[in-house]
Amino acid sequence: MAEIALGSYPAKRCARSTHNRFDPTAPTLGPPDPARQALVDAGIAFEAAVVETLAPTLGDGVVVVDAADWSAAVEQTAAAMDAGVPVIAGARLPNVNGRSGAPDLLIRHGDGYLPVDIKNHKTLDSPTRSTSPRSRASVQVAPLSAPGQIHTVTGLRADSGKRREDAMQLAHYTRMLQDLGRHGGELIGGVIGATDLTAALGTAQGVVWHPLEDTLARYDEEFALRLRVAEAAREGRELVRPVRISECDSCDWFPHCAQVAGPDDASFAVLTGHLSLPEWRHLYDTVGDGARLTVEELAGVDVEAHRESFAALGQRSGLTRLANAVRRAAMTVTGVDVEPNGSGWPDVPTADIEIDFDIEHDMDHIYQWGVRIRDGQDDATARYEPTVSFDPMDDAGEAALADEFADWLEAVLADARRTGRSVTVFHWSPVEIHKSAKFPRVAAALAGHTVDLMAWFKAEFFARTSSSIKAVAPLFGFDWDHEDSGGLTALLRIEQARAGSVEAKDWCLRYNCDDTAAQAAIRDGLRALRPPGPAAARRSDRPPTPHTPSATRS
Ligand code: SF4
Repeated sequence: MAEIALGSYPAKRCARSTHNRFDPTAPTLGPPDPARQALVDAGIAFEAAVVETLAPTLGDGVVVVDAADWSAAVEQTAAAMDAGVPVIAGARLPNVNGRSGAPDLLIRHGDGYLPVDIKNHKTLDSPTRSTSPRSRASVQVAPLSAPGQIHTVTGLRADSGKRREDAMQLAHYTRMLQDLGRHGGELIGGVIGATDLTAALGTAQGVVWHPLEDTLARYDEEFALRLRVAEAAREGRELVRPVRISECDSCDWFPHCAQVAGPDDASFAVLTGHLSLPEWRHLYDTVGDGARLTVEELAGVDVEAHRESFAALGQRSGLTRLANAVRRAAMTVTGVDVEPNGSGWPDVPTADIEIDFDIEHDMDHIYQWGVRIRDGQDDATARYEPTVSFDPMDDAGEAALADEFADWLEAVLADARRTGRSVTVFHWSPVEIHKSAKFPRVAAALAGHTVDLMAWFKAEFFARTSSSIKAVAPLFGFDWDHEDSGGLTALLRIEQARAGSVEAKDWCLRYNCDDTAAQAAIRDGLRALRPPGPAAARRSDRPPTPHTPSATRS
């Protein structure tokens, strides 16, 4: 049997994904969905763009490993290291001690090399340097022209979440270089990311260097576990069960893991507000039988009894998340999708003219001001009237489009004033208001008329699902026209629409129309769900009162 060699990702990812990869009975994964593939492609393009800048910057000081064949690339990398080349891009290392790896860059340091990864994400908390004398923040950075010349800059802080993840990969390469006798000695690794480093370096791009001492101990433990998991899975044994954590939301193995866990599994039954792996492990061990914990068992958990043990796990808001998980488990068991936070059923906001508002934007510009307008709560009167442009967008085009939308909105408001009718503009999340603020006419027209429906919903109700509109609206029977509806897909589609695709233009219009219609469906659904009688309560932990069946599950 071939020796197992794991790359740089497994140690920072869920151990069950390693099991699945080596389990001969696990299904073969298909290609990632287009939106996720677009992220991968963007990362590859970012890396290529950075590498392209290295040759003019470093001249003879860089070698780009370009052999197509892996073994040839390994040899090319080794030859460059033997020659002491200052920067090696696209490096390929030989497998060693169960590890395989391809660090994006190797930087000459001492008698060896240090690893650097190129990542299309931010590297610092903020690109703006703090001038406060009390700031203890500092980062180690180096310019791209001299990536090994590291110096400390105060007033800036590395993004902790990204650093934690990146450091695990850098630790992997560090161990490989050490095992190969090629490491430069200092336990640090670098990232070239998307944050503008002008405040630190006087130039936008450079390397942010992270200390790796602490990470290496954690990495060694996690990597050793995954090697054992892989060996066991290959032999038909199972060292780790699937447990739903936040990582599952973007994991291609999700359908398989959900099936393996089964419909009664507590972690997979809780759709949002996920607990961490140590928190779930504690519950599986103390409430379940170690391997399994049912949703009924979770629903019966006495939250207070776990106060000390959750505090000992040291994770932020642990007890609050546990209380919410227990509440959601109870809702799952009793078939309740949404319940009021208070004792009575809140009044749903209304107006004589209801406008549901949703903008679409790319990285730089708003290209679609989507509005669906109706008379009061009569959905039969609803008209979708977007202000949209499928032309390539620049600042002037965006401003002109915003003016066009302001014309529309001002006309609606003027007519409402004339006829003595109230107008409310609903939007789901603050994004619409934040993004509109840079257009004074739009901001002025919206002022005093808007309701952030998501904020209102979260203040008044507790949902079994997340408060994403894509999760809440289906609770009231609303569904999007397209299976692939989502923000990342929208970015792909607008590019296709700008290139002339009629089908993509139609998708953009229908997707945005659905986002507006969903808000009306939520308000109407909540009104319909209201139990008869004044201020009636309906909580999963109280005796159920009559309600409209469409809002609960059978
Ligand atoms: S779906 Fe969740 S449990 Fe399964 S491999 Fe992915 S992250 Fe792990």
